[in-house]
Amino acid sequence: MPKDFLAGAKDEYDVIVIGSGLAGLTSANILGAAGYQVLLIEQHYKLGGMATWFKRPSGHVFDVSLHGFPYGMKKSCRRYWNQDIADRIIPLLGIRFDNPQFSLTTPYDRENFTKLLTSQFGVEHETVTQFFDAAGNMNFYDEQQMTTGELFENFFPGRQDIIRLLMEPITYANGSTLEDPAITYGIVFSNFMRKGVYTFQGGTDMLINMMHDELKRNNVDVRIKCSANKINTRRGVVESVQVNDRTIRCRSVVSNANLLTTIFKMVGEEVFDKDYIDDARNVRLNNSSTQVYMALAENDSIDPITGDLLFSSTADRFETDLLLSRDITSRTFSFYYPSTRPHANPRHLIVSSTNANWDDWIHLDDEEYKASKEELIDTTLGALEKYVPNARERIIFAEASTPRTFAHYTQHQNGASFGTKFEGLAVSRGLPEQIKGLYHAGSVGIIMSGWLGAINYGVIVSNDVDAQLM
Ligand SMILES: Cc1cc2nc3c(=O)[nH]c(=O)nc-3n(C[C@H](O)[C@H](O)[C@H](O)COP(=O)(O)OP(=O)(O)OC[C@H]3O[C@@H](n4cnc5c(N)ncnc54)[C@H](O)[C@@H]3O)c2cc1C
Repeated sequence: MPKDFLAGAKDEYDVIVIGSGLAGLTSANILGAAGYQVLLIEQHYKLGGMATWFKRPSGHVFDVSLHGFPYGMKKSCRRYWNQDIADRIIPLLGIRFDNPQFSLTTPYDRENFTKLLTSQFGVEHETVTQFFDAAGNMNFYDEQQMTTGELFENFFPGRQDIIRLLMEPITYANGSTLEDPAITYGIVFSNFMRKGVYTFQGGTDMLINMMHDELKRNNVDVRIKCSANKINTRRGVVESVQVNDRTIRCRSVVSNANLLTTIFKMVGEEVFDKDYIDDARNVRLNNSSTQVYMALAENDSIDPITGDLLFSSTADRFETDLLLSRDITSRTFSFYYPSTRPHANPRHLIVSSTNANWDDWIHLDDEEYKASKEELIDTTLGALEKYVPNARERIIFAEASTPRTFAHYTQHQNGASFGTKFEGLAVSRGLPEQIKGLYHAGSVGIIMSGWLGAINYGVIVSNDVDAQLM
């Protein structure tokens, strides 16, 4: 008999949270702590969504999306998770850029960037101050006409090198482009500039395990390998969710699954207003990624001056299309030292990440797909040699993931790494106006993606659910 992953689950809950990405986990935790009966279901065998890791028999543990996030994570984790989780959030100091236009290392904060922009890039101090103030004062309710490209042109006209310095890490961090609204850039960039880039000491596995323990303390019923197939509504109100082969009643649903999947597949467009569906159809998915995970032998090490996070590129200038191209010119290398997992065997690992297009990977047959992955590994090892001498001989393990991998494990359409583009936010927020009790919390609109964005969106949505249930 196949195992029943819903054994002992009740027939009714106050809230069903679909998906255990950071937004889903956080919503479930807050609502559980508030005393609601919460069922959290995850279709995969592991919690965390994109915040994930995997082990290989060689003993290596690779983090998929633990490359860096803003300091705000510490506050959000302290308030909505616990002090032990917040205490493990520590700074990453060695952020490097290496491209044909410049090479530099920075703690990636306002003080250091001001120094760099004035001394190395020759910008007037006043212009830099005005730029930081303009970016820092943007808020969600501002007009959204200006694009990020126009923002840069206002302050640094014609300066492709400065655009690269300011934009490359943010494009990598959430897929945003020069054509996106400037507000999305301003908020995310300022979040980082406040105090630099942070990481979680102990690794993603430790973070998600600590979150799982907290969920249990808050009596959240957590179930893996449970897929939401349908969200049932009746006369504009949420009624139940079909989970595996059971129908479980609820007063509220928080879907952490892809926004478009939630609307078009789980609910069905026939129950929404036509205008809302038109808006939803216009929501663009964000791009996907490829990664190469590499390990050095146990007795080998990476020189710490290599840094923690390296934005490397061989392209002459910054262009979004180049960042997404199969002909890879830009790679972000994350270097993991034994201090990442002080409790485990000392290991030196490297993860190379590149933004990628779904269409470049989905049409390949099995042979082509295998060959393309091997080529990805090979070219990445070649690029790594510049920073880790003799990398080809020293790397004892390498494996690649592609947009197909991300789609497979998270069910995100097109393997979208960061959910949807900015217009997805209004559609996500409009969901409960269409169907009472139905909410979406998860990567949408740049601001609400990334580890911090997803957690904060989970907080916002749990407050909405709380208000509805009360
Ligand atoms: C390669 C890569 C690198 C990244 N690097 C960083 C980084 O350095 N810093 C940073 O801040 N962010 C990074 N991110 C982004 C960050 O990981 C995500 O934005 C964030 O984790 C998304 O959280 P989420 O809550 O939106 O849910 P997701 O992580 O998208 O999770 C959604 C969950 O829903 C589940 N689900 C889907 N459908 C169903 C269903 N029908 N039934 C049940 N469950 C379902 C999925 O299995 C999944 O677990 C990276 C992302 C990628 C892909």
